[in-house]
Amino acid sequence: MAESVELPTRLAILPFRNKVLLPGAIIRIRCTSPSSVKLVEQELWQKEEKGLIGILPVRDALEIKSAGTDILDQSSKLQDGSSDSLKSDTKKQNDIVHWHNRGVAARPLHLSRGVEKPSGRVTYTVVLEGLCRFSVLELSTRGIYHTARISSLEMTKTEMEQIEQDPDYLMLSRQFKATAMELISLLELKQKTGGRTKVLLDNVPVHKLADIFVASFEISFEEQLSMLDSVGPKLRLSKATELVDRHLQSIRVAEKITQKVEGQLSKSQKEFLLRQQMRAIKEELGDNEDDEDDLVALERKMQKAGMPPNVWKHAHRELRRLKKMQPQQPGYNSSRVYLDLLADLPWQKASEEIEMDLRAAQKRLDSDHYGLVKVKQRIIEYLAVRKLKPDARGPVLCFVGPPGVGKTSLASSIAAALGRKFIRISLGGVKDEADIRGHRRTYVGSMPGRLIDGLKKVAVCNPVMLLDEVDKTGSDVRGDPASALLEVLDPEQNKTFNDHYLNVPFDLSKVIFVATANRMQPIPPPLLDRMEVIELPGYTPEEKLQIAMKHLIPRVLLQHGLSSVFIEIPEAMVKLIIQRYTREAGVRNLERNLAALARAAAVRVVEQEQVVPLNKGMQGISTPLLENRLADGTGVEVDLMPMSVNSQNISNTFRIASLLVVDETMLEKVLGPPRFDDSEAAERVASPGVSVGLVWTAFGGEVQFVEATEMVGKGELHLTGQLGDVIKESAQIALTWVRARATDLRLDAAKGFNLLEGRDVHIHFPAGAVPKDGPSAGVTLVTSLVSLFTQKSVRSDTAMTGEMTLRGLVLPVGGVKDKILAAHRYGIKRVILPERNLKDLVEVPSSVLANLEILLAKRMEDVLEHAFDGGCPWRQHSKL
Ligand code: ADP
Repeated sequence: MAESVELPTRLAILPFRNKVLLPGAIIRIRCTSPSSVKLVEQELWQKEEKGLIGILPVRDALEIKSAGTDILDQSSKLQDGSSDSLKSDTKKQNDIVHWHNRGVAARPLHLSRGVEKPSGRVTYTVVLEGLCRFSVLELSTRGIYHTARISSLEMTKTEMEQIEQDPDYLMLSRQFKATAMELISLLELKQKTGGRTKVLLDNVPVHKLADIFVASFEISFEEQLSMLDSVGPKLRLSKATELVDRHLQSIRVAEKITQKVEGQLSKSQKEFLLRQQMRAIKEELGDNEDDEDDLVALERKMQKAGMPPNVWKHAHRELRRLKKMQPQQPGYNSSRVYLDLLADLPWQKASEEIEMDLRAAQKRLDSDHYGLVKVKQRIIEYLAVRKLKPDARGPVLCFVGPPGVGKTSLASSIAAALGRKFIRISLGGVKDEADIRGHRRTYVGSMPGRLIDGLKKVAVCNPVMLLDEVDKTGSDVRGDPASALLEVLDPEQNKTFNDHYLNVPFDLSKVIFVATANRMQPIPPPLLDRMEVIELPGYTPEEKLQIAMKHLIPRVLLQHGLSSVFIEIPEAMVKLIIQRYTREAGVRNLERNLAALARAAAVRVVEQEQVVPLNKGMQGISTPLLENRLADGTGVEVDLMPMSVNSQNISNTFRIASLLVVDETMLEKVLGPPRFDDSEAAERVASPGVSVGLVWTAFGGEVQFVEATEMVGKGELHLTGQLGDVIKESAQIALTWVRARATDLRLDAAKGFNLLEGRDVHIHFPAGAVPKDGPSAGVTLVTSLVSLFTQKSVRSDTAMTGEMTLRGLVLPVGGVKDKILAAHRYGIKRVILPERNLKDLVEVPSSVLANLEILLAKRMEDVLEHAFDGGCPWRQHSKL
């Protein structure tokens, strides 16, 4: 505590609105008004020797009603007479402030400068210690802040010695100390401060203690003023004793009340109190964002967003409404979030289209994708048209094919070739129109649709937008997403796309849309009409091998921080992975399996580094971690290496690692026992009643077994395996046809005239968890029934597909290319196809056709002829 202070004759004055600083107290003031900021900058900031400043209480005109005579009469008109201590609402209500004629000189203890606001405004926070009273002789201005000529009201040493002899003073000081002691004891009991405050009582002169005590609790402004005005020590002591005593009483009363009320506070009240406290604490820490500034920043962001005039008008109206609201008011936040979205949307911001070089684009497509010659050719044509006529409204490209055939990566290559940003919007499972068009803002938790959300994320208005899985949108009571998509893709309408949440039109015409789908058939025809379908049927094993060697392996190794120095995956092993571990049209599982090998190699590399001292050569080191992982075979995912590590760094770090050549044993250890083998069909078809069909699913072509069995019963047909209506009808037709032809087929010769006499037939489609439908299982169903009734097994190397009419005609089916590829993957050697599907064979890669025998069927009898060893069973019967 400072002893007697030498005051200068002139002090810079900081007004303290409706509050008083007393000597000995420490306060924190946030200086935000231009005048006080100027004062801090000129008088305190960056000055080695920080001088004193005067803190002078000021009073608003509103508060003047009970003003004492000692308020300076010179009600000065300031441009901004605001006090920095209070951010009160009355701040701007009047400009007239009344200066008190006594203040306290204060010494800055700490100064900090706030972050500069976007408006260029700065704020300072000053921590000040009150030193001694002064009285104002004359108030004047220096620039935009005030200074005052002053005289000190501090007692001199002799005065002090004199008063200490005064018996009245002694009595008063004893009384004060006793009361103060009482207060301290009470507080220490509550707060357990451990007697630190008591030390004060013994070491600080009583007349100063009086100020310190009074400053430490809250009293009214009037009382604070009168304390400041108590210049004489006797008066000050008696006033302080009175105030301390009153405070003591109020604590006691409050304690009694708290005890009574405690436990009665409801949860919400507690929350309210805590929140209030939190707000106060935040305010104290200077954490609370200035809401006003926040809105100014928002407005500036909105101005920069480049909204069209009608949108700007709408947004501005909303902003005006927001400005009138309190942040706690319902609707404030939703309005704020809405305006933020409007300001964030790329109304005009576009990525600059680079001068397109078709040759470079072709190069890029070739380097990213193996094969797909026709597809790439079509993409190049598309790009060429765009180059000639940038605003051409060609059809939307739609890549159709099973998963993992490169649809997404082709689309992203288009974006790269055009130098535009790429965004993928997943539409799989979208049933609600609002997912595309957004919810109206009247909904609780409403938000924009996926398109607008996506545009906000890419932040340009001309990205390449991939509408992924357009075939997976469904419609139900919540509207029809496909019709919303129609609007999006229609060049006439998408200039003014209307998102319900946004509620103002947004121009989508600069976006380049590309769509993907697994199948064409579920896409609603009007939507399909807007798109140009490019089919990617899936890869042959040879193509997969090339893709793996040229693209997947280098990429996977890079992702795992490896290089060909550490691991070699020979072609033969990749072939084995394709045959035994994957049975897919695309290459996604293949990539996953390669990644598993890379992870295992990463473990080995790291292990070797740990086991071997760097300078020693090493060969054939055992790797416990790897062994563990290999032994257990469950494929624990170990990601030891960061994905983006530069392989060069790794090679330097682990230069000692020996090359790991993947062999069959390692394959089995890392990937587990083979999941598929070619003998599956043979094993399953071994018993009569089972036939091999080819079907078409979202995953491309698939081999589907059909099993039929019979038992004692009443001639009923049972069907199982998650079947749709069409396939159920096919089963009925198949049974009817077999029964009708029983005599021709010589089935009833052995079993009596009614085929179903005394027995039921059960047909099952294995993989019961997968829903199945479609007419193309017709011929397979008949074959399995004939096999059951003749007790002759179907050839295991033969798969079939075809729809059958009631009279036994075989009709053509779709997806022939995918189905033949699937048969090839399964190791099937012969495929029976409807004759009218012959034309589809041109699309099948010749390398696949070379390995397959294609058998064409016009009638059901042809199918049966091909499906059984030695021809149709009835022929054999007839031979008997
Ligand atoms: P989709 O979108 O058809 O499901 P993706 O585009 O995601 O498939 O492809 C899966 C992975 O296979 C990607 O890593 C992709 O780069 C790779 N890929 C697919 N086809 C090829 C190809 N012809 N050449 C190189 N990589 C390919």
